[in-house]
Amino acid sequence: MADEFELIQTFFTTRENREDVLLGVGDDAAILQPPPGRQLVMTLDTLISGVHFPEQTSPSDIAYKSIAVNLSDLAAMGARPEWLMLSLSLPDNNAEWLQAFSQSFMQTCERYGVQLIGGDTTRGELSVSVQATGSVEAGRVMRRDAARPGDAIVVTGPLGDAALALALLQHGEEAPASLLQRLNRPAPQVEFGQRAAEVCNCAIDISDGLLADLQHITDASECGAEIDLSAIPLSSAYRQCYQDNISVSNLTNALTGGDDYELCLCTSFEQLQRLTQIARNCNVNCFTIGKITAESGIRCINENGQLVDIPVSGYKHF
Ligand code: ADP
Ligand code: MG
Repeated sequence: MADEFELIQTFFTTRENREDVLLGVGDDAAILQPPPGRQLVMTLDTLISGVHFPEQTSPSDIAYKSIAVNLSDLAAMGARPEWLMLSLSLPDNNAEWLQAFSQSFMQTCERYGVQLIGGDTTRGELSVSVQATGSVEAGRVMRRDAARPGDAIVVTGPLGDAALALALLQHGEEAPASLLQRLNRPAPQVEFGQRAAEVCNCAIDISDGLLADLQHITDASECGAEIDLSAIPLSSAYRQCYQDNISVSNLTNALTGGDDYELCLCTSFEQLQRLTQIARNCNVNCFTIGKITAESGIRCINENGQLVDIPVSGYKHF
């Protein structure tokens, strides 16, 4: 059975694909050439079995998702992804599992033009942490504290598919393939996030549910929001699961479910047209779902113009 060093050598020695990696996996640390004139943007996300993915999730889906969730954070900042580090905690040294995991991991790196530059490997409960570094043109970044009253609130979507798939699985029901795909293979808005930052300076990625994540924006920006519930984008698979009867209670997964990895952006109405044009150019569906208000709190309005009370309860670990 391979020891930890052989394991790293076999599965995580990368195909070098970036000239700015002066030294990658194998030494005590990596050496990188920072992109000239740009600022670095860093993020880290951990996926724990049974918490961030169902235990039966395939190693290739886990590998993909561990990268996708980090690229989604970078996209929300408007950053271009550059390098990844991987910290793996494994219950055992299962070559078949590792082969599937590392193949998917490397493929996903190639797909997004990022390189694995190092990491750590330990024994313990299955847990995967990825640290991602990206870069932005100096100052051109999207932040949570940059929303202003009167801004339009825009989301990419549809929303709620992943949470609905997870809810179905947890009830022992079968989830439609298109919903499962959205749970296991979320597509981070990498291209759109970078282009959006040209005209927009406020965004967050929707990982804990739209309302919880929008609340991070309204808290940081010291403002509130008004959401038009009839504008929340839903997939046809989502609608079909509710026999096309979308009452407020059937919106729960779209409003407070997690794992969407779509973007929520706030922009002035003057820039809104440019933002939607950028979305079209990137082949991304984006929807205006409300506006930022001076008054604090998030108000949800139904199609009859009535205020609907929806408790904001994103996933909380503690
Ligand atoms: P050290 O004991 O110096 O911390 P390690 O034995 O943890 O070194 O790692 C040796 C090399 O392998 C380092 O370059 C490290 O970044 C890399 N590495 C370890 N685990 C992984 C992993 N899961 N994926 C990619 N690189 C890894
Ligand atoms: Mg060392």
